[in-house]
Amino acid sequence: MGKDYYQILGVGRDASADEIKKAYRKIAMQYHPDRNPGNKEAEEKFKEAAEAYAVLSDSEKRKQYDQFGEEGLKGGFSGASGFSGFGFDLSDALRIFMEGFGGFGGFEDFFGGRETGRRRGPAAGSDLKIKIALTLEEISTGVTKKVKIKRFETCPICSGSGSKPGTSSVTCPVCHGSGEIREISRSIFGQIVNVRPCSNCGGEGRVAEHRCTQCGGEGRVQNFREISIKVPAGVTTGNYLTMRGEGNAGPRKGPYGDLIVFFEEKSHPYFYRNEDDIYIDLHLTPSEAVLGCDVELPTLNGRVNLTIPPGTQPGKILRLKGKGIPHLHHSSRGDMMVRIQVDIPDRLSAREQELYRELFKTETKKIRPEQRFAKFQ
Ligand SMILES: [Zn+2]
Ligand SMILES: [Zn+2]
Repeated sequence: MGKDYYQILGVGRDASADEIKKAYRKIAMQYHPDRNPGNKEAEEKFKEAAEAYAVLSDSEKRKQYDQFGEEGLKGGFSGASGFSGFGFDLSDALRIFMEGFGGFGGFEDFFGGRETGRRRGPAAGSDLKIKIALTLEEISTGVTKKVKIKRFETCPICSGSGSKPGTSSVTCPVCHGSGEIREISRSIFGQIVNVRPCSNCGGEGRVAEHRCTQCGGEGRVQNFREISIKVPAGVTTGNYLTMRGEGNAGPRKGPYGDLIVFFEEKSHPYFYRNEDDIYIDLHLTPSEAVLGCDVELPTLNGRVNLTIPPGTQPGKILRLKGKGIPHLHHSSRGDMMVRIQVDIPDRLSAREQELYRELFKTETKKIRPEQRFAKFQ
């Protein structure tokens, strides 16, 4: 089953969202790397808790996890360039912590007056998430998809500076260039210094003297952009691809966030997918099943001829090796399974009736009484 996320957070399987958040916060506060510098064990605990929280706080992921365990979440994959797997590094864990508890500056607010980690330079742009639907045929070969996304891009007029071309920025009059505002308050624990980013300059310490009229001083503008997404063969619903630097531009030359592309498999008219194998039902008449026949069969890449041997039983599964979905990041493929269904005619012509009656009389393979019944399975 893999990791027990409930156990990691010390909550019951029926814990409410609120209980999960509280439990996570407690553990995260205890093991936060800033509080345990150089302590690998604490870092592991911090990461583990973030991973557990990321799953259990997302109702969709929690449902999947409850049903299938950790395996059910192996949506992400790792390996080839540009992919990021499910599994956390420290920066993911820190991001989850920040997202869970109030964005930038959240951590300082908790501990009060910590002076580490003051932000320098402009903020990064946010990540963008999109979903693209793929047919099994596209998944089978891999495909390049073009999608149009709306995102923030660096302002072409001021090149992201936010200042009117030809003018420059000045020291922020509110924070005097430090980029942060300090508030001192007293509590029973003593003096608490809260440090938060200056809202006038966004923490950058400088503001435009004359704002760029195109972007209003933000240094970025919204734009539609066509992006080419190379989807590798073998992906499945829940897999995602992280395209570094294709998300939103940050304000005033802030770096671009990422574009995260989630894949979704469209339902196929007759193929059912189980991991990398595909299944199809093949309907035969009684005489086709009894005498054997050749049928033309659709596969994910073209039609093939399949020989049905004489005496093929209903329910039998014929395996076509290597006609399934390619394994992600492997050269081999899954198989195609063909299940035989025999359609008993419920309407017969006079001639057919005659032949069936004749057949009935001459049938050699009669079912003997002791073979008539078998245990239901
Ligand atoms: Zn501009
Ligand atoms: Zn300022």
